[in-house]
Amino acid sequence: MTGSLKITTFVYHPISKNKNCIQENIVYSTLSYKLQKDTISFGSARVDKEDAFNLRNIQNLPCACCGKKMINEKEYAKFKSKDFQGPAAPVLKKLKPYVPYMRSTEKTVYNLLKRAANKDPNADLNTLLKKRYYYHLGRLEIKQLKIINDVASMKLELSPKSQKELDNTLAKVREIIFVEPKETRQKRSRIIKEFETLKKVCEEKQEIDTILKKLQQLPTSKDDVDAFMIKYAQRGNREIGQRLMSPSLPTLDHIIPANKSGHDNFSNLLVMCEKCNSHRGSIPYKEWFESHPEMLKNIQKNMNKVISEINGKRLLNFDNYPQEIKNTLSNVCDYNLDISTLRR
Ligand SMILES: [Zn+2]
Repeated sequence: MTGSLKITTFVYHPISKNKNCIQENIVYSTLSYKLQKDTISFGSARVDKEDAFNLRNIQNLPCACCGKKMINEKEYAKFKSKDFQGPAAPVLKKLKPYVPYMRSTEKTVYNLLKRAANKDPNADLNTLLKKRYYYHLGRLEIKQLKIINDVASMKLELSPKSQKELDNTLAKVREIIFVEPKETRQKRSRIIKEFETLKKVCEEKQEIDTILKKLQQLPTSKDDVDAFMIKYAQRGNREIGQRLMSPSLPTLDHIIPANKSGHDNFSNLLVMCEKCNSHRGSIPYKEWFESHPEMLKNIQKNMNKVISEINGKRLLNFDNYPQEIKNTLSNVCDYNLDISTLRR
């Protein structure tokens, strides 16, 4: 009986591959937000800055979580110095050497922009995104609607009182997705917060947890091309260009999270790409391994590369780092790191 619970959109932008349906000139007269930069914080760990730089500057270091290569500090500085203004085609050509470091969503966006730039040689990055705005918005809203419908279909498992609460929450969430201005920030996290409040007022904790799990599937600009295109259609050329690389930046991940009294020193820090680090948040490693079993071999790959840098005297001051990490991982998640290749 889920059919009777389906929600319809209030504002709907039809999907069409017909180019005539893509607006050529979208005027953002209501844009009033303050432009914030996508900032990647390297400053969260209070460790020696030079040592941290050297660790993150290892060339082709695999992320301890996804195992994909990260861009090192010096390469990133070169990337950042590029001029992102002007027609997109030459800009994208300059970014070509960095494509191997891009994560899958960004690589898809890069290729999509490259094709678009060939057809539209005078357009800059921002214009290319804006021209495709409604096409991607339609696709994004269909994905969001499907998830919200799935949540609505869970209603029958709740008590009448909780059903009412869920209805109120769904109404608020529909408003956030379909009625609020598209450029409003933090929509996804606000939606999740709305549903988290249900946990306080409903008795069916397990069912609400299932709903919250489902909501984690809401597209983000890091894992969904349509969400990327919508979010960054509102940003400048430099921000769009730099965003193609930011998930591939090396960050220091606290094995024991800082907010759970994890120490701010290298014995508690693994180099992880920004995408994986922000995705993990402060989920304990033991739990994180269950949803990311690939990490078991990728931590080893990461450490093998670090050890080869130490052995080759290209990374100084880190002689004790492999043993310290081995001890930490053994303590927090019974992980047995192999550091036998380290020359003493
Ligand atoms: Zn990663």
